Amino acid sequence: MARYLMVTVSLTSDPARRLAAIRSQIAAAATRAQRPVESITLVAVSKTQPAAAIAALADLGQRDFGENYLQEAIGKIQALADRSPKLVWHFIGQLQSNKTRPVAEHFDWVHTVDRLKIAERLSQQRSPHGPPLQVCLQVKLGDEPTKAGVTPTELPALLRAVAALPRLQVRGLMALPPAESDEDAQRRWFAELRQLLMTCQQEFPGLDTLSMGMSGDLTAAILEGSTLIRVGTALFGERLQSPS
Ligand SMILES: *Cc1c(COP(=O)(O)O)cnc(C)c1O
Repeated sequence: MARYLMVTVSLTSDPARRLAAIRSQIAAAATRAQRPVESITLVAVSKTQPAAAIAALADLGQRDFGENYLQEAIGKIQALADRSPKLVWHFIGQLQSNKTRPVAEHFDWVHTVDRLKIAERLSQQRSPHGPPLQVCLQVKLGDEPTKAGVTPTELPALLRAVAALPRLQVRGLMALPPAESDEDAQRRWFAELRQLLMTCQQEFPGLDTLSMGMSGDLTAAILEGSTLIRVGTALFGERLQSPS
C-alpha cells in the first residue's frame, strides 16, 4: 500500500505527464473553439522553479518560459543560454521603471507594459543589433486595486504612443482578470479583452496576440481566442517557496 502511494506521487509529479496533460487540455479546448492548436502557445511560468526544472521541460520540447522576478530570472536565463534550440523568455511580472534594463537586455517578450514611461525606457535600453522586444500591453479589466494595467479607456492612447517607439514591437494585449470559478464567468472577462483587441486591430492590423489564461482558466481563455496561455502550477506543481 505504501509502495503504491509512492508510485502514484512520483507519476503525478513527473513533468512529462503534467506537460502531456496540459497539451491535451489545450488540444481539447482548441477543438471546442474550432481553432488550430498551433495558434496557441504555451508559456511555462517557471517563477520560483530551479533551472533544472526548466531544463527538464525544455528536454520535452517546451520552448517558451515566463518569469516574474528579475533577480531569479536572470540567473536562470544565463544558466540556460547555451541550449539549442534557444529558449524564449517572457517577462510577466510587474515592472518598475528603474528595473527595465535587465528586461530589455535578457527577455524576448514583455507582457506587462501599462505605462508609457516603462515602454520608453525599454525602447531606449533594447539593443538595436538584435530583434525588437515583443510587447503586450497589460489591461486592467476588473476593478481590483491591487492589479496593474491600463484601463480600457486609456488603452488607445497608450497603444499609439508605444507603437511609435523604436526597438519595440507591440503584439497585443494581456490581462489577469479577477479569479472566477465557473467557465461562463471566466469567458466574460476574456471576451472583453478579445473585443478590446479587435478594436485596436482596426488601427493596428498587425496585432496578433492575446496573452490570457492560466492554470485555472486556460480552457475559457482558449475558447475566447487566447494565443498565449501562461501556465505555472499545473505544469510544475504548487509553488513552495515564496519569492523574495
Ligand atoms: C504566476 C503567474 C501565472 C501562472 O499562474 P498559475 O495559476 O500558477 O498557472 C500566469 N500569469 C502571471 C502574470 C503570473 O504572475
